[in-house]
Amino acid sequence: MAPVVAGRMEARADDAVVRARRAAELVPCEAAYFYLGQRPRNELAQQLGCKLTDSGHIEQDRRQRTSVEGVYAAGDIAPPDETVAVAIAQGQVAAITINRALYGPEQRP
Ligand SMILES: Cc1cc2nc3c(=O)[nH]c(=O)nc-3n(C[C@H](O)[C@H](O)[C@H](O)COP(=O)(O)OP(=O)(O)OC[C@H]3O[C@@H](n4cnc5c(N)ncnc54)[C@H](O)[C@@H]3O)c2cc1C
Repeated sequence: MAPVVAGRMEARADDAVVRARRAAELVPCEAAYFYLGQRPRNELAQQLGCKLTDSGHIEQDRRQRTSVEGVYAAGDIAPPDETVAVAIAQGQVAAITINRALYGPEQRP
């Protein structure tokens, strides 16, 4: 069985090898799974002055409020998880929070 390594892939016409990270060695492999990598696109949040985490995500409280009044964060830009289910849930919480901020706590969404 081929070893499992993380590294930079070098593809050839009918073959594939992986150059293990920080190693000169080339490792032949049967399958390669891409990790594209992600980074938060936080330029707008930075412009607005939102407090960011060390990873570049927007800090928010449990009501999706950021450090800037009137600015809310939900989804991948807001920690802790990057999944559709969490993004939807955070979006709903943000919508309820915004509704209450606009119309008062008694107002139903
Ligand atoms: C390859 C891959 C596979 C995945 N597979 C799964 C999976 O199987 N299950 C799962 O639950 N999750 C999966 N995810 C994660 C999932 O896609 C995200 O959690 C989800 O899309 C987050 O939704 P979002 O609305 O926060 O962000 P996004 O869906 O990224 O939407 C953000 C939108 O904002 C736009 N945008 C960014 N900056 C600006 C700006 N300044 N002005 C205007 N528009 C802007 C972007 O173009 C984008 O359209 C996967 C992600 C990737 C990359």
